Amino acid sequence: MLTANYHTHTPRCNHATGTEDEYIRSALSAGIRILGFSDHSPYIFDGDYYSHFRMRPELLPDYAQTVLHLKKQYSDQIQIHLGAECEYYPKYFREVLSMLRDNQVEYLILGQHFIHNEFDGPYTGVNSHREEDVKTYAHQTMDAMNSGLFTYFAHPDLLQFHGDQKIYLRYMRQICREAKSCGIPVEINLLGYREKKWYPNPLLYEAAAEEDCPVIIGCDAHAPEVFQDTETEDHAREMIRRYGLTLLDTVELRKI
Ligand SMILES: [Zn+2]
Ligand SMILES: [Zn+2]
Repeated sequence: MLTANYHTHTPRCNHATGTEDEYIRSALSAGIRILGFSDHSPYIFDGDYYSHFRMRPELLPDYAQTVLHLKKQYSDQIQIHLGAECEYYPKYFREVLSMLRDNQVEYLILGQHFIHNEFDGPYTGVNSHREEDVKTYAHQTMDAMNSGLFTYFAHPDLLQFHGDQKIYLRYMRQICREAKSCGIPVEINLLGYREKKWYPNPLLYEAAAEEDCPVIIGCDAHAPEVFQDTETEDHAREMIRRYGLTLLDTVELRKI
């Protein structure tokens, strides 16, 4: 049973359902005592590129105020935190960070859905055979971790690579080594199991075990009822047992 979950979305990202209040009540009934909202951070790009899987910048104040209001309202029952799942796009990161700070966002989890700056790089879930893509993904996420601004690394194995798996493992080891040295746990993502995606990828957790990098379980909730689903969690616990991983139940939030 999870006591904390820092990976929760809201309908503002255009692909989740349920109100914040419903997420909180479902989490409470599942025994969760720390609930972090981490909807997909807004990003402002040049030109007319717009990404549809994240909240629009103008929705950020309402997101922040809603969560902060509920944080107070439920303070005697559950610890609520205001966060965001955010990519590290070097060219635009500073601007997004100041927008998040202005809205009192408390913490970030790293979710690198694209490499480069999104509009000029591929979706990391696209099946790639190019070592160049794994290398870019690894370097970009290691730079992100070194910024000291990310609390943990969500679905670190989102990158789908069908080339030589020795190459993949080599870069995943580098990522886990860097995560360990930055004090950042890597997530075992329950959405991946729920939706039978290509992640969680055992190779990443093999690397985490070798590098002694702690893991954390993240629901990646896109609907309130997923907190009731304890069966999916068993897959994560099995991965933890298989590789003898160190599981963190809670994590200290890094101020942004
Ligand atoms: Zn994500
Ligand atoms: Zn997510």
